[in-house]
Amino acid sequence: MNPLATQAEVEAVTALIAASRLTSHVSRGAERTIVGVIGVSDDKETLAGQFAELAGVDSVVPISKSYKLVSREGRDEPTVVRLRNGVTFGGETLAVAAGPCSVESREQLFTTAESVSRAGANLLRGGAFKPRTSPYAFQGMGLEGLVIMREAADAYGLAVVTEVLDVRDVETVAEYADVLQIGARNMQNFGLLREAGASRKPVLLKRGIAATIEEWLMAAEYVYVAGSHDIVLCERGIRSYDPMTRNLLDITAVPLLHSLTHLPVIVDPSHGTGVRGLVGPMSLAAVAAGADGLIVEVHPTPATAKSDGPQSLTLPLFAELMGRLEPVARAVGRSLPAKAVTV
Ligand code: PEP
Ligand code: MN
Repeated sequence: MNPLATQAEVEAVTALIAASRLTSHVSRGAERTIVGVIGVSDDKETLAGQFAELAGVDSVVPISKSYKLVSREGRDEPTVVRLRNGVTFGGETLAVAAGPCSVESREQLFTTAESVSRAGANLLRGGAFKPRTSPYAFQGMGLEGLVIMREAADAYGLAVVTEVLDVRDVETVAEYADVLQIGARNMQNFGLLREAGASRKPVLLKRGIAATIEEWLMAAEYVYVAGSHDIVLCERGIRSYDPMTRNLLDITAVPLLHSLTHLPVIVDPSHGTGVRGLVGPMSLAAVAAGADGLIVEVHPTPATAKSDGPQSLTLPLFAELMGRLEPVARAVGRSLPAKAVTV
């Protein structure tokens, strides 16, 4: 719409969309309103002509991409995902999630939450439901793990991001978490995407282990259409032929996604490399490339971790990384979250 378009003019557009048996999606930005037209039409050209005639319409842009609502054309300003406690993904301040791969005990979570909040993290990560390569490996503490996560995060002013593995658990995980994580193995689990989207909770959508950027954006579109518009994309590495690292961390995806979608993008250097010593350098690279945040595995005693010990930072290593990250963030016009002051 024209920046000066009135509400009545927007409504005339949505009325024509409804009369054409199509669905409208209205996105109100600071500058202008964009009305998305969703559906299948036999005669796009005639319809586009009709819209162009309406008062207040600035231009009619056909979006050829199969992901429309999450595309840059669907919204001309970046989405900032805001959580209840003031954490933002896509704002000037970066989102930094830190915590263990798996929730193992109350003590482990409280020790980690205290330390990472003092180092400047603003979200606590940790899996209560774990997808594992082997069905015989530790699968997580389940509901008990969720309760511990919530309590530890609340004690130190952190938000909670945790994975939901199964459609049957969406409601329960949504009760305890601020952000629902959809793991790499479930990126194209469309039933789960629909259910997570319908919860209207913020969703962290990790890249599938062999997913193209387009497939990933199509998955995000699924969540968006289902109802949650607060979607954060997370690059976590893709399968490569080289066993030296666990995955090949695709930092190129960060600026590429920023050119294709209005959604925020964060990076997981832990699963992205699988190697503790590579987590720091790749965190710096991710922020330098414009990532809106990081999700990092941190464990008080990685040697005894039930999962992903070799890629987990110790508590002091995480604090040291946050120190090194600060000037890099500043250089690209971003800042790190404020450090929690302990009393
Ligand atoms: C995780 O973050 O704990 C995890 C299992 O990650 P991914 O889905 O990227 O493998
Ligand atoms: Mn892990």
